[in-house]
Order: sequence, then structure tokens, then C-alpha cells
Amino acid sequence: MKHVDENSAGDGVRELFKKLVRRTTPNGFEHLMYECIPHAQADHYGNRFVIIGSNPQHLFTCHLDTYPLDDDEGECMSTEIHLIDEGTIIRTDGTTILGADDKAGMTVMLSMISAGIPGIYGFFLAEEQGMFGSQFAAHDSLWNELMQDVKAVISFDRKGVESIITHQRNERTCSDEFALKLQAEFKKYDLDMMRDKKGSATDSYSFFQMYPHLQCTNISVGYWDQHTCCESQDILHLERLCKAAISMQWPIP
Ligand SMILES: [Zn+2]
Repeated sequence: MKHVDENSAGDGVRELFKKLVRRTTPNGFEHLMYECIPHAQADHYGNRFVIIGSNPQHLFTCHLDTYPLDDDEGECMSTEIHLIDEGTIIRTDGTTILGADDKAGMTVMLSMISAGIPGIYGFFLAEEQGMFGSQFAAHDSLWNELMQDVKAVISFDRKGVESIITHQRNERTCSDEFALKLQAEFKKYDLDMMRDKKGSATDSYSFFQMYPHLQCTNISVGYWDQHTCCESQDILHLERLCKAAISMQWPIP
């Protein structure tokens, strides 16, 4: 079994992404990704987190599990992926999912950690099973301690290239004011993103349920057709997003 190189966040975004998606990592196989996260701590569920700076105001999230697809025997397996790099798009040979949902989000967060951007970085398990990892964290005393100064939860986990999610499950989870500030920052780095009310629940929603006063949003990381063997990644969007995320003005007030 191939493992991903340590300290790979220093590589180019495309190379880092391609390393992270070498294998699918459905729930139960997230441990294959642990070694990719430098200096991470673990909670009692197995979620990983990294803290940079003191009293960080943002929790950034992604999930380590990929969408589970059963093999012929009905077993959920970690499967090797045959990548096709078409330049602007990366996809598979059509026999597996790509797992850009949410290795694209992981790519953004590893780039930010590498650049030393202050924040709490949560790498959650079992999101595709029903956000179990983040549900655990949202109710956990250790995380409650960590969350003391957090004002916003930003999940790098949304299809497409232009969404800043303001509503999840038809509930407002992020103010227009906060979303517009994010939009203005992204705009400085050639990302035309906009408010989107049609969000589905991802890990930030777990925190919204427990901490409804926080700004909780999901950001488009450039994957399409997630949960299918047609899944693809707009790698140029991901490169721009990583550049923005390590260059822009954090925290968003
Ligand atoms: Zn996802």
C-alpha cells in the first residue's frame, strides 16, 4: 500500500492534491491520511486537529473520509485510484470516485498550515456517514475548550467554484455581512465567488447546531459530480483558492 509523503504541503497544489487522492479513504480508512497532517493532535473520536497561533478566531474544517462505494462483494474498501490529469481537470478512469470531496478541502488546509495561517484546523472523520466526527466534536468538552474564541467555522467542502454558503438545510448559518467580506477577500485573488443559499449540511453545520451564534459557511473547492465515478476536480480553481487562502487577510472580522 502506498502512503502519502510527509510534509507534502510544501509541494505545488496539483502535486499535493494528486498525492492525497491516490486511494479512496472511506470511513474506517481515514487513518491512511493521518501521516499527511503534520503535528496533528487527536480527540477521543479519532478526529485530528492542528492549532496555529493563540486564541484563534476561525475553525477551518475538511473531512478525511471519502464517499463509500461498495465493491462486488458489498464490502466498503479503500481502493487505488487511476488518475487522469487533463491539465485543468483531474478525474479518474471512471472505475472509482476521485475523493476530491474532500481531499480538495484537505489540500487547502494543509497549504494554510504550511503557510502558518492562524486558526484551528479540524480534520473530521465519518462526514459522509452523517457528520459523525464533527457531531462528536461539537458536543465534546475538549473542543468546547478549543472553541472559546472562535467566531466562524469555515468548511472547505462544497462542489463547484463559486459558492459561499449562507444557508444549510434552509437555515441561515452565515450572515450576508460575513459572506460578503469573504467574497471581497477572494475577489482580490481572481476568485469570483458569491453567496449561495442552497447549502447542504457538512461539518460546519454540526457546530452551527451547538453554537448557533457562530458564522458557519462552506466554500466551493472545485469538485463536481461528487459521490460518483464521474467526479472531477477543477485544479485551477483549487490552485487559486489555495493562493487566496494563504494570502488573504485572516481573520475575517
Ligand atoms: Zn464533503
